[in-house]
Amino acid sequence: APAVVETVTRTTCPYCGVGCGVIATVDEGGSVSVKGDPDHPANFGRLCSKGSALAETLSLDDRLLHPEVGGIRASWDEALDLVAGKFAETIREHGPDSVAFYGSGQFLTEDYYVANKLMKGFIGSGNIDTNSRLCMASSVAGHKRAFGSDTVPGTYTDLEAADLVVLVGSNLAWCHPVVFQRIAAAKDKRPDMKVVTVDPRRTATSEIADLHLSIAPGGDVALFNGLLVHLTRAGAVDSAYVADHTVGLTEALNVAAGRSADLEADTGLSRADLDAFFDLFAGTEKVVTVYSQGVNQSVTGTDKVNAIINCHLLTGRIGREGMGPFSITGQPNAMGGREVGGLANQLAAHMDIGNPDDHDRVGRFWQAPALAHEPGLKAVDLFKAVADGSVKAVWIMATNPVDSLPNADEVARALELCPFVVVTEVMKQTDATKYADVLLPALGWGEKDGTVTNSERRVSRQRAFLDAPGEARGDWWILTEVACRMGFASAFAYERPADVFREHAALSGFENEGNRDFDLSGLVDIDDKAFDEMLPVQWPFRAGEPTAQASEDKRFFSAGRFYTPDRKARFIPTEVKPLALDAGFDMLLNTGRVRDQWHTMTRTGKAARLTSHIAEPFAELNPVDADRLGILPAGLVEVTSRYGRAVVRALVTERQRKGSVFVPMHWTGQNSAKGRIDAVVAPPTDPISGQPGLKATAVNTRPY
Ligand code: SF4
Repeated sequence: APAVVETVTRTTCPYCGVGCGVIATVDEGGSVSVKGDPDHPANFGRLCSKGSALAETLSLDDRLLHPEVGGIRASWDEALDLVAGKFAETIREHGPDSVAFYGSGQFLTEDYYVANKLMKGFIGSGNIDTNSRLCMASSVAGHKRAFGSDTVPGTYTDLEAADLVVLVGSNLAWCHPVVFQRIAAAKDKRPDMKVVTVDPRRTATSEIADLHLSIAPGGDVALFNGLLVHLTRAGAVDSAYVADHTVGLTEALNVAAGRSADLEADTGLSRADLDAFFDLFAGTEKVVTVYSQGVNQSVTGTDKVNAIINCHLLTGRIGREGMGPFSITGQPNAMGGREVGGLANQLAAHMDIGNPDDHDRVGRFWQAPALAHEPGLKAVDLFKAVADGSVKAVWIMATNPVDSLPNADEVARALELCPFVVVTEVMKQTDATKYADVLLPALGWGEKDGTVTNSERRVSRQRAFLDAPGEARGDWWILTEVACRMGFASAFAYERPADVFREHAALSGFENEGNRDFDLSGLVDIDDKAFDEMLPVQWPFRAGEPTAQASEDKRFFSAGRFYTPDRKARFIPTEVKPLALDAGFDMLLNTGRVRDQWHTMTRTGKAARLTSHIAEPFAELNPVDADRLGILPAGLVEVTSRYGRAVVRALVTERQRKGSVFVPMHWTGQNSAKGRIDAVVAPPTDPISGQPGLKATAVNTRPY
């Protein structure tokens, strides 16, 4: 029989921050199948429902295949000249801060790197932010306050080695399913291992929990302040560690103790539940506290992060096997974005935009003529600046702010008013593309090539195994072409993603004498072939380290040396700030993901087996609230805030906490008549991180 011709490609799942390895096989007829990569250290062959259905999401239906200008097909030259010309003209007339880029955790690191370099180094503005602002900006800010660096200390193996895993504001079973499976498997093997979930809703994650704390929205700071005080009284303090490696305990403890009497009211938890949790934490050495969007997406998100970290510093439970705070990111490459400085308040390679030494270092490395000195506008403020006319040209890449930012109708209005809007997209019709003056077709998963970094700092390759459809191009290429047309050709002489990666690795090691956490300088000389074949690498991977160490699990802070000037970690005093309902509204809206959908469903919406899990948006309510409000199970309900309204189907369940309503975030104007929930969500942000409080909007919920 003739030999079967097929191509087999190792790549990485494009969805969540777990970063699972995927093996994609294309057979002779062009059919694609996927399976988990048994050798990838994030998943060891496992895939969740979304990852397993990747092959069913690859059709070219509704794809944007050619550049468009003013809704008419255009050549790349025409479109790129127009973008470069309009940006240059706007900068000439109104200054560099009159333009802005809005990127995405869906970017590959190489895309992110080029976008950040162009905007901060050569256009000379900090106005580049990304949808990662909605994902983990509070973790970044909390890490930096405590550690002096944006470092996730632990690894996935720590979650398996822990004797207690505390999951705060994280429906891991649906949102990071393979990490959930790893914890569940570890617990099966070691039944003494305990799991606690902290969430206003009892979710699929709570099914493996020994204790579920149905906390009041916004109660996390109070909970961990209460824990801090309890640990002190229970004799669980690691005094030597605190003395040698930390600063600021007394003040943090005084602030925490100041509201101890209000703990039950502030958390909405019974004394018995609080005691059970506190005793378990105090009595278990190996504790990992995993937290996600219930912590980050809050107007007090940074304080929540630090309240958690404070408890780990107090007990010295950080940097050791099975211990530590662990932020798990929502998107596939939120971490890569952090590495390149893709947020408006970062520089690059974990350097700070406001630090003169870092500024000098990056300026010399890039030979940047106009490196921005000041942070730019963060996501929510960036679109406010579009609305008020101070930003006159905006380029949106690989994301859809008209559906994902809070107060989303206002974002649509801002784009309608904006004189020049560029959108780089894989899809032709989204709620954002209709406002584009120029549409640029991007490559999607399976077509693009580069790297992503997962939640445990592991850099993996996304590899192309499909031909580029139509005239679609990689984001890094599009940005490079615009940079060249703006007159910066010598600094943007990239011909392939490996060129960008080498520069990124070199910058990470540039004048880095072990004084920055992010370091990939061990890969600075990687040639094209080695880049093609690159295995997953966890950072830091420093120049001169043996190659074997690239694949080792690496943990930070084992020696207790942090990245503050005195190398000591900081306790941060975190004040409890109870959430207040807006007058006239009686419930709090929480938004989030469902198991089988991803973001605005442009990919997962194509797979029938994924859409059959949950076919329409819903509002999850407690029966007591449903009775009070006259809402019938499966009846239609209207969810209204000061900002907008949505109509979805009622899902009445005891799993939900009284006074709270949960609506998923995936449905848009393209796939649901009235279920676009971010039109309802309030825009206030955390004052430190700029992350919006996507999980606590004052609303009314009424029968429709
Ligand atoms: Fe993809 Fe996340 Fe599922 Fe892994 S857990 S297959 S990265 S969606």
